[in-house]
Amino acid sequence: MSDEINEKLRLIPSIDKLLDIPAIRDLTVQSSHSFVRDALRTVVDDLRKEMQSNSVSYNGEIAAEIQKRLQQRIHDARQSKLRPAINATGVVIHTNLGRAPLAVEAIKSMTEIAGRYSNLEYDLSTGRRGKRDAHCEELLCQLTGAESAVVVNNNAAGVFLTLNEVARDGEVIISRGELVEIGGGFRIPEVIGRSGAILREVGTTNKTRISDYESAINGNTKAILRVHPSNFRITGFTAKPSLEDLIELSNRTGIPCIEDNGSGCLVDPETMGLTDEPFVQVSIRSGAHVVTFSGDKLLGGPQSGIIVGKRELIDRIRRNPLMRAFRVDKLTYAGLEATLRLYVEGRESEIPVINMLRYDSQTLLERARRLINAVAQSLTDTGSGGAAQTGSITLSIGKSVSVVGGGSAPERQLRSYPIELLHRKISAREVEAWLRRQATPIITRIENDQVLIDLRTVTTDEESTVASALKSLSEIE
Ligand SMILES: *Cc1c(COP(=O)(O)O)cnc(C)c1O
Repeated sequence: MSDEINEKLRLIPSIDKLLDIPAIRDLTVQSSHSFVRDALRTVVDDLRKEMQSNSVSYNGEIAAEIQKRLQQRIHDARQSKLRPAINATGVVIHTNLGRAPLAVEAIKSMTEIAGRYSNLEYDLSTGRRGKRDAHCEELLCQLTGAESAVVVNNNAAGVFLTLNEVARDGEVIISRGELVEIGGGFRIPEVIGRSGAILREVGTTNKTRISDYESAINGNTKAILRVHPSNFRITGFTAKPSLEDLIELSNRTGIPCIEDNGSGCLVDPETMGLTDEPFVQVSIRSGAHVVTFSGDKLLGGPQSGIIVGKRELIDRIRRNPLMRAFRVDKLTYAGLEATLRLYVEGRESEIPVINMLRYDSQTLLERARRLINAVAQSLTDTGSGGAAQTGSITLSIGKSVSVVGGGSAPERQLRSYPIELLHRKISAREVEAWLRRQATPIITRIENDQVLIDLRTVTTDEESTVASALKSLSEIE
């Protein structure tokens, strides 16, 4: 090591001296002494390494540099790793972005329960231990028409637990057209295997008849499983029996029919323009013995899995020893209960997911115009859209589609008017990354080499954040 570097290294004050600097000592008032000292050690170590490799660059005094870096480091350490993001992708149920944003009522209810004790497992009428799994049951039965209901962590747990209870050590009949992977590695054949049931696949990928199910039934058959293929559609030369036909077979043979419904739509899907989406009420009314679905897809509540159906079966599922491993906490019950109450009261338009899916595209066009005007103040009308230039960016209104996402209604496209963003100097890929790195990350998508900002999934409260990010972007030369 050169003498010059050694000389510089000697200029670094000791940790104790640094801790005596008033501005640094002040930091130990908010956080503990050891927290600040550890952060300081890391900062000094990093600086020392940079000096040794001669890559350090700063002006001014070394203590001031250390203090600046320490403040930044403490600021970074205080930032949550999990933080809010703006979903400008137009994908309404975006699993990577936390699926359903919750309704105000659900958030209120969760906040109320979060910091206090509650009657989670306490029966207020008797003063004795109560049942945690009873909380949402009444509302779920009222909404779906089922005899009984139980809530678990997610739909994957719902399917697993149901099969484990109903079909363990026996065969489950399922169509080859429904042996799907839902995403994130949730593969139906593997889940059936792990549940302890034996997979009995029937029919072909594109065609399965009721007679295929019927001839597969034997003394060891424990269940017929229908899985909503959620994230894809087989089209063309296809056939599968209706749920009614399966239930008729099930009733005739005494073998329960289980439906993995997937998205958990509790209002008529047609009111959201969804024609091919299963409707939980209809499955129950048709006589399905058990129906499972997610709480955070089309239902719009917190992450959860809901199992509804015939009392005898649901009671058995509830008593399964694995139930303990899949049960949900008080916050989930609080959020789910409040969300379900909105459905019961006919206030489902207050549920963000439902609201976004029903959003009128004309309103989206107006919001896009307004946002562009806020950034550029010079939107020139060019027919359906318009274009505006400000600084380095050009904003125009495109025509595209938003999608439901979350493995729901894959072919369903909602008309949308996203803002198309072009930067004179920076590529679409870099603009997308720049927006993603903002203090509140803005997540966008790229189509035809343009960054698209789809306001369907952006709240009006978030528009100003998007506008100021676009202003900063326009100032980058
Ligand atoms: C989404 C989905 C699942 C998984 O649900 P999670 O709540 O994410 O566990 C299972 N089956 C179907 C049909 C689905 O659409």
